[in-house]
Amino acid sequence: MLTSPYLCAKVGLDKGGLPVPQYDIYVRCVECGAVHPMRIRIHLDNGPLEKQSIAETYPGKTRPPQLQALDGHKTLCLKTGRMFIQENHDHIFLVPSYSSERIT
Ligand SMILES: [Zn+2]
Repeated sequence: MLTSPYLCAKVGLDKGGLPVPQYDIYVRCVECGAVHPMRIRIHLDNGPLEKQSIAETYPGKTRPPQLQALDGHKTLCLKTGRMFIQENHDHIFLVPSYSSERIT
């Protein structure tokens, strides 16, 4: 169960109408090699502007708690129907929710 308040927090729009930076988490599957959505949306103040792996975004830096909370989180493989855990931060991606880039 995810109990972190960071993951549950709902963020709306700023007063100025600019979207608060939110990120969808995508994971490279260890079962089939495709990239699947973790179905988690987090809020990062200084996250990347485009899709980027966690390893690239925080090289040698401490990850914020809302990302540390992803460790060991199970993702469903849409192809095999099995759950998997991706522990390599090169294969976990932050995708801005406003990004036009769609991952398949
Ligand atoms: Zn898969």
